[in-house]
Amino acid sequence: MSELREQLYRTPLKLSGYVSGRFTAPAGAEEIGVIDPATETRVATLLESFADEVDQAVRAARAAFDTGPWGRTTVAERQVALNAIHDAILDHADELAMLETINTGIPLTQTRGFHIPRAAQNFRFFGEYINQAGGEVFTQEPGLMSLVTYDPIGVCALIGPWNMPLGLTAMKIAGALAFGNTCVVKPSELTPLTVTRLFQIIEGLLPDGVMNLVNGRGQVTGTALVSHPDIDMVSFTGGTVTGAAILQSLAKGIKGSAMELGGKSANIVFADADFDQAIDAALMSSFMNNGQMCLAGSRIFVDRKISDRFIDSFSRRVKALKIGDPMVAGTEIGPMINQAQRERMERYAESGLGEGATLLAGGHRCANLNTGYFFEPTAMLAPGNDLAICQEEIFGPFAALQLFDDEDEVVAKANESDFGLVGYVWTDDLNRSMRVASGLRTGTVLVNTPIVRDLRTGFGGYKQSGLGREGAKGSQAMFTEMKTTIIAREPRKMPRMGMAAE
Ligand code: NAD
Repeated sequence: MSELREQLYRTPLKLSGYVSGRFTAPAGAEEIGVIDPATETRVATLLESFADEVDQAVRAARAAFDTGPWGRTTVAERQVALNAIHDAILDHADELAMLETINTGIPLTQTRGFHIPRAAQNFRFFGEYINQAGGEVFTQEPGLMSLVTYDPIGVCALIGPWNMPLGLTAMKIAGALAFGNTCVVKPSELTPLTVTRLFQIIEGLLPDGVMNLVNGRGQVTGTALVSHPDIDMVSFTGGTVTGAAILQSLAKGIKGSAMELGGKSANIVFADADFDQAIDAALMSSFMNNGQMCLAGSRIFVDRKISDRFIDSFSRRVKALKIGDPMVAGTEIGPMINQAQRERMERYAESGLGEGATLLAGGHRCANLNTGYFFEPTAMLAPGNDLAICQEEIFGPFAALQLFDDEDEVVAKANESDFGLVGYVWTDDLNRSMRVASGLRTGTVLVNTPIVRDLRTGFGGYKQSGLGREGAKGSQAMFTEMKTTIIAREPRKMPRMGMAAE
């Protein structure tokens, strides 16, 4: 067991909010236990931010935006600040990776190799981006110039999920700060460790009030934040039902939003694909991050011509995945985030069987792991696309396979979904890959590659997978107001109205 974990078990952290440059100590706050899902042991106690603390946080961000120095910083100064946050994250990378693993159950190899470097990279990227990003100038007629500029939008409420707590929230913070905004951040109440630690390690790097933190449950702290009249927008990553509730709240004040919501992404494997690559990627897309990924490609469509070989190989590999303590090197699958999520897995395993699917692997709690919210990585072969396991986001290590015979059929089936986040295509035929990519109604299509994020491109979803895009221009659109200024450089010809009086 790691020293840090032992220390947290002995003395759980006390986590609170951070308002106007100070950590809060709310008297009489509701205390919420934060659990290590691998051992069901408390590692922190969250002192929940009620409406009055949320109000103080928003006011601090408002004051810092309206009258503080942040709004007058140069691009170069903001870049220096963003780079300093990048460096601070990397200086604490090992500790942050361990905290993320202890809190989420995601294997340490993945938090260390991907989550934390990615969290840091967001700050460096947006620091560089604002050095390049500019507005536009149009000349409609001689002497008339139209300028399009991008003003900061103001106070941003940034709400993150539990499946990649620091990485996904860092992207929002970096984008909001880069474009000159101030923010109030709310991590998931299930996984507040790393985001709260980020506030500690960067203390003093930004003027007071630029970056504030509120901690607590969605129904309490989250609703108080999104319904606060002084926020200017919400950037949210989480479930589709929560996203819809937030949109309703924002509608009252006509506030802007960016919504990164759920997914049920199709992973289409044609017979001519590189078989080994397609199998490796199907495993990675379904089971990395314990399968708890918005962009999981766990609705796998297999060309009937290769189905026997694919199903045999995939099932054997799923059964061989190493489940266990996420802090141990070599573990491939850790626990589910909590008991509710494990029960959800059980319900989907039952519903799949009840609707006629065939169990290929897993389907149960782990018999040899009595403590911790472990569930066997699961694969089922579904007889049709309308099964709940093929339509609903399970958000765990659960792959639903289906067979197909031709291209048009599989594209239509892939699109038969309320979601539209990502589509994966595996084929050696360039023309086919282009046809399928253009036919898929998803925000991202990945051809012959598993998960890749390129911060210069936009990431987001069609349909119920969201609104807006994160990354370069997408984040610029999210965190700025586009302003048009039209300037006449010489006197204008115009009708002289009311001349009868002259
Ligand atoms: P969730 O919707 O339960 O919670 C997300 C955040 O919203 C948490 O911080 C929560 O406290 C807060 N919240 C809950 N109710 C709220 C309310 N009424 N008002 C304001 N805030 C509220 O989601 P989750 O279970 O933490 O995360 C899993 C979901 O996130 C999955 O559906 C997954 O697909 C999605 N997700 C999407 C992306 C993406 O980029 N599209 C990335 C990661 C996760």
